[in-house]
Amino acid sequence: MSTRTLRVCPKGHKYYKTGDCPVCPICERVRQPYADFLKHIGAPARRALESKGIDTLFKPSKLSEQDLLKLHGLGPGSLPKLRKALKEKGYSFKKS
Ligand SMILES: [Zn+2]
Repeated sequence: MSTRTLRVCPKGHKYYKTGDCPVCPICERVRQPYADFLKHIGAPARRALESKGIDTLFKPSKLSEQDLLKLHGLGPGSLPKLRKALKEKGYSFKKS
């Protein structure tokens, strides 16, 4: 017998789950496109983004391209790839 229980993930999402699986479906949905996005950029750029706490696609969309270029590890060569990857997910960089 399984009962659906209300859970709250560390980020405050409320969701119902059966069984013991602790994965929050809302966090998963946010993380998935971001993981795709990161595939387009190199490891130094990825670390730069993560060091700024940019861990969802929503956050790069808050930055302008100039802001991103200030991050160590992110060169102008990464920008077209990032722009395209964001666009595919329905986001874009902040207009500077
Ligand atoms: Zn969550």
